[in-house]
Amino acid sequence: MFFKKKHGDNYTTFRKEVRIARETVDGIITYSKACHPNEGILILTGKSKRNLIIIDGLVVPPFSVRGPYYSGFPSYDLPFDLSYIGTVHSHPGGSNRPSIEDLNNYYGLVSVIICYPYDDRTICAFDRNGDQFPLTIIDAHI
Ligand SMILES: [Zn+2]
Repeated sequence: MFFKKKHGDNYTTFRKEVRIARETVDGIITYSKACHPNEGILILTGKSKRNLIIIDGLVVPPFSVRGPYYSGFPSYDLPFDLSYIGTVHSHPGGSNRPSIEDLNNYYGLVSVIICYPYDDRTICAFDRNGDQFPLTIIDAHI
């Protein structure tokens, strides 16, 4: 996900980056471990600015389906809420790369994946095209 900013007569391309609160990451880790060996999925809340996506909360989706190979929920069941900016789901296997199904079921602005063994090193965020966002975990309250 790129956007352009005008600098005089020149356009510079900036990459969006993602910042995620420490306590949100801890919640994702706890939930993923509880779901293991199945996938778990949660809704991410936060806000999006021009070059920044800030994630600071989690919501358990209604009617979520969990299984070893697929986790998802019908997005038409979700209440309309502007603070819903994407989803996070776990991969019980050792890869946090998005699958074709993940890209086909993309919801919102950002998709976060965490894979086994579910720690800070196995979490990543990607955009609708499957390209990875730079991801920073923020300790302070944001
Ligand atoms: Zn997946």
